[in-house]
Amino acid sequence: MLKCKRITDNFVSISVGKEYDAEPYYWTTFYYYKGLVIDTGCPLTAEETVDFMEEMKLNVRAILLTHYHEDHSGGAYLFKERLNVDVFAPTKSLQILANPNEIPGYRQIVWGQPKPIKALPLKRKMEFDNVAVTTVETPGHSFDHVSFLIENIMFTGDLLTNPTPVIIMKEEDSIDVMDSLEKVVNLDFEKSYGGHGIWDKNGVKETLTNMLRLKEKISVLWSMGLNTEQIVEKIFSNVPKKVLSMEEMSGGEWSRKNLVESILGMRHKPHSFLPPKYKTD
Ligand SMILES: [Zn+2]
Repeated sequence: MLKCKRITDNFVSISVGKEYDAEPYYWTTFYYYKGLVIDTGCPLTAEETVDFMEEMKLNVRAILLTHYHEDHSGGAYLFKERLNVDVFAPTKSLQILANPNEIPGYRQIVWGQPKPIKALPLKRKMEFDNVAVTTVETPGHSFDHVSFLIENIMFTGDLLTNPTPVIIMKEEDSIDVMDSLEKVVNLDFEKSYGGHGIWDKNGVKETLTNMLRLKEKISVLWSMGLNTEQIVEKIFSNVPKKVLSMEEMSGGEWSRKNLVESILGMRHKPHSFLPPKYKTD
């Protein structure tokens, strides 16, 4: 299923999702901007998406991927094949895009198993028909995640998904997310367009502030001696049903506990600052 919205003459947002009982479980959004396609939707909607690009006569010059997750990179193989365009991806993603892992069953149902893609490495500065693209490294949501600054527009993939995060994936590093948000806040842009929402600059700032506040709250509880399960109970016991069903459906790949552990620095690898208690945990 596909929904599109023309933002300006040369700027289109395209949301896709595989429908079950007339509606998709989840939508993911990607963008067409002046000949560039930023992310590509999921494998299960690839065919529909490329048909749509052809029907709309959108002149596609290149594909830019923000990260390797299947709901962002999943249509790229077919864009490359049918529209004969280059796919650019973060250098760190090239290997996993060329040899994708088998993803868990629930993601195969929602998005589909990704097909191998031979992508070219993104450069920090690129230009396509006079449209200048700056690639900004914004890791955290995934190890390879980047954002793009194109004119005064930010394309931020999954860097922001919820202004008040409650649940995250196991692989996410919230410390890196906060650093990346701080980096983005300091750039010159008006709006940030992502896979699951659109934010103005204040919205990006607010998300960062909310995460810093959450970090403070969690750190206090941790220093009082509560373990991560107890912190989840204390802070996130009253959550929407959707959160609980997502934890169950994903077998814990998505969870509130992931967020608590990540905020405490337990997922933070490269320049790790671990709370002292973690070492004996
Ligand atoms: Zn993602």
